[in-house]
Amino acid sequence: MGDVILDARGARAWLELLAGTLSEHAGELTALDAAIGDADHGSNMDRGFKAVRQKALNQDGADPAAIFKQTGMALISTVGGAGGPLYGTFFLRMAQAAPGKEQLTVEDLRDMLKAGLEGVVQRGKASPGEKTMVDALGPAVEALDAAIAAGKGGEEALQEAADAAERGARATIPMVARKGRASYLGERSAGHQDPGATSSALLVRTLAQSVG
Ligand code: ADP
Ligand code: MG
Repeated sequence: MGDVILDARGARAWLELLAGTLSEHAGELTALDAAIGDADHGSNMDRGFKAVRQKALNQDGADPAAIFKQTGMALISTVGGAGGPLYGTFFLRMAQAAPGKEQLTVEDLRDMLKAGLEGVVQRGKASPGEKTMVDALGPAVEALDAAIAAGKGGEEALQEAADAAERGARATIPMVARKGRASYLGERSAGHQDPGATSSALLVRTLAQSVG
């Protein structure tokens, strides 16, 4: 097993950075959702992560899984619509993949992200190519797996995962949405980047910035 790259302090730092980043990008995420949805993805994520800050990040002595569980519950209880419960499920499944571990290796994070992705797929029933967050999270998990298999260190492996998530988000532009509100537009959903894939890329990028 590799070196420790994330502990409870690191997990809190990641979620703080993600909350701030989602706040900064709220306008952009909402504009993407205005084009193919109902113009609330940025405000949903911002509201959800403000609740995460209040509920999950001021718990003393929690391990990373406990922090992610609180994060998932805060998102589910504060964000309506499709995105909030899907991200809530993502964090709850992450928590279940490494219960009680104080120190996470890159392999642990890979297992957690994979479990989170599987939770999103189960709950949302989206396959790759249907223009959803799965199109950013899926490539990220694949790239992380490949980088670990190639013997890369944790920081580099997560940077490659973040690059793959960003490429995946951009690759949603020509896709026709098959799930969620954007699917109501049919062919007219093509030509716009998916808001959930875009926020998922921010999630992976901020994680890559928080490990080490
Ligand atoms: P809502 O669609 O309820 O307004 P948001 O705007 O917060 O919720 O989130 C929209 C995003 O949720 C989409 O851009 C897409 O990435 C994601 N999404 C919607 N439905 C699904 C689904 N069934 N599976 C996976 N992701 C989905
Ligand atoms: Mg929306």
